[in-house]
Amino acid sequence: MDLEGHSLVRWRRDRNLRLPRVAGWVGSTVLLLAVVGCGISAGGEQNNVVLVMVDTLRADHLGCYGYDRDTSPNLDRLAESGVLFENFYSVAPWTNPAIATHITGRYPRAVFPPLPLKKAIGIPLPSQLPTLAERLQEGGYRTVALVDHPGINPELRFDQGFDEWHSLFLDGGFDSWTVTESDFVLDQFLASLDELGAQKFFLNLHLVYPHRPYAPPPPYDSMFGPSSPKTGRARRQEMINAYDGEVRYTDELIGRIAEALDERRLTQSTWLLVTSDHGEGFWEHNQAEHGNSFFNELTRVPLILVPPQREGVAGLRVRSPASLVDLKPTILGLAGLDPEEDLEGRDLRTSWSNPAEFEAPRWLFLASPHSKDVEAAAVVRGDLKFIDRLPWRKARPALFDLAEDPAEKHNLAEDSPRTTEMSRRLKAHLKQCEQQRSSLLSEDAVELDEEVLDRLRALGYLQ
Ligand SMILES: [Zn+2]
Repeated sequence: MDLEGHSLVRWRRDRNLRLPRVAGWVGSTVLLLAVVGCGISAGGEQNNVVLVMVDTLRADHLGCYGYDRDTSPNLDRLAESGVLFENFYSVAPWTNPAIATHITGRYPRAVFPPLPLKKAIGIPLPSQLPTLAERLQEGGYRTVALVDHPGINPELRFDQGFDEWHSLFLDGGFDSWTVTESDFVLDQFLASLDELGAQKFFLNLHLVYPHRPYAPPPPYDSMFGPSSPKTGRARRQEMINAYDGEVRYTDELIGRIAEALDERRLTQSTWLLVTSDHGEGFWEHNQAEHGNSFFNELTRVPLILVPPQREGVAGLRVRSPASLVDLKPTILGLAGLDPEEDLEGRDLRTSWSNPAEFEAPRWLFLASPHSKDVEAAAVVRGDLKFIDRLPWRKARPALFDLAEDPAEKHNLAEDSPRTTEMSRRLKAHLKQCEQQRSSLLSEDAVELDEEVLDRLRALGYLQ
């Protein structure tokens, strides 16, 4: 157990790089790796950015994160052509606070108050915080959102800064979640891409397939064994089989998106990013789905950065922890723009342009569950994770050494002097967030009216 961390950035040279189906992304970067090593431009150039936010995608159900099922052949290839962050954390175990951090660069408790789901779901994004899309817009970018998630919508002001906002989901209640056909999503993506033409662009695609209900179309419904959209502990394996089918279905779509970028020669000028807002539990810690804890099945998500062809970072795997709070500064950096000075996240390109700086230990925070204990929070530093209150057993604190105990089964809180330090840091973080948020609320305390809430209920978002 080591609070100061280890050498956390490494190149992956232990595998033969296969020439993939998305050859344009990989073949060139492999060659460049040999020519330029780890060199990379530090910024200033304005690249296009395609961000694929896959809702509810836990990292450990992807091959490139060690899963033994073939759920992600396309993401695995993309990871080989770019940079994979092995320990990338969300900031919250459910959608709205995680997306709020992605958009604003602020931790969830600095944006939203701690509230139970039925109230939290109706709190719009504050309007004073500069959003990622607004910053890119000001920087000359065309900003386009394609969103297949009913809860991320203009009524909640998640559209701030987007020139175009396209909702892709079917308006049919919770049963219609995750059933938008990938052909339709791809068509919308291609139409947006072709309309953009030669403009610099930020394209934000939010997919929702791995979210419950788990109901992938054939052949994905049986690809990993008998599956069921029904939930319940007795159906655990069928749920996992269906979830994995949804992951593979998503992976196929992302492969087609990468191909489309390649066919349009956009790989010369476009970064492709794939990540998620949170994971999903299957009773690893007595609970299913998400929103209810800070265990890694909910909080460790993938992040893969695929650079334009000229960048030589193919196969880099970064072990040092990073977080969704880093996404905004990183994307601004890819666009040649500076982040706001008061943001706590950092440009993740530092992981290869200045590994020594990147490996310095840092504190990463998580908060805003929608369980009964909405004020619970957690902090990660190096291999250690501290949770201030577990969701059971009289809400005890917990400390886990993720290097020794990746399944988070052995609570070290009572025996470790680290507990006090991590608890103190977490309290200081929450206090600082409270101060930041109170100034927002005094100017921007707007809640949704009943009509909008009724619409969200009709979409199944309050189920
Ligand atoms: Zn989500």
